[in-house]
Amino acid sequence: MTKITCIQADITTLEVDAIVNAANNSLLGGGGVDGAIHRKAGPRLLAACRALDGCATGEAKLTEGFDLPAKVVIHTVGPVWRGGAHNEAALLHACYTRSLEIANALHLRSIAFPCISTGVYGYPNQAAAEIALQAVRSFLLTPTSLESIIFCCYLSQDFLVYQNLLNT
Ligand code: ADP
Repeated sequence: MTKITCIQADITTLEVDAIVNAANNSLLGGGGVDGAIHRKAGPRLLAACRALDGCATGEAKLTEGFDLPAKVVIHTVGPVWRGGAHNEAALLHACYTRSLEIANALHLRSIAFPCISTGVYGYPNQAAAEIALQAVRSFLLTPTSLESIIFCCYLSQDFLVYQNLLNT
């Protein structure tokens, strides 16, 4: 059985096998959670990201965790919210699924997600959380190495949304 939980924390502090980064298409760093991850991981992360040649929206790519407590970072690029009629839901769903596929392929046991796209990219928090949970639950219909999937909320408003969803 895989445990799905939510916590309110800084994702860069988590001792898990993988943390997911809400990156941008360049993978060369940015603000928000991306900036926090790069600061904590150190300059070797940027060097590793340069070699990845960017990432398409809805896709995910892997690096080591370097100075982070997490072993690896899975960089995914969420959609920018443009009103909801621009394939945003499918792209956000794909971010979660692709990240889980990478973690599973590496036989990882724990992974933590930030609330992808809900910061600067403007995705509505509740709708984004519903998609995140849907993607995780449908991924868990097939056997996986993952024992723990953590939704790591930075803001209390997101934490409340996930608490409500996980209790229903
Ligand atoms: P995006 O561009 O995908 O919207 P942001 O980094 O702007 O990415 O925001 C994504 C989410 O990450 C937001 O919910 C924001 O509150 C959260 N966040 C920011 N810093 C951290 C952190 N250190 N740990 C976890 N989540 C964070």
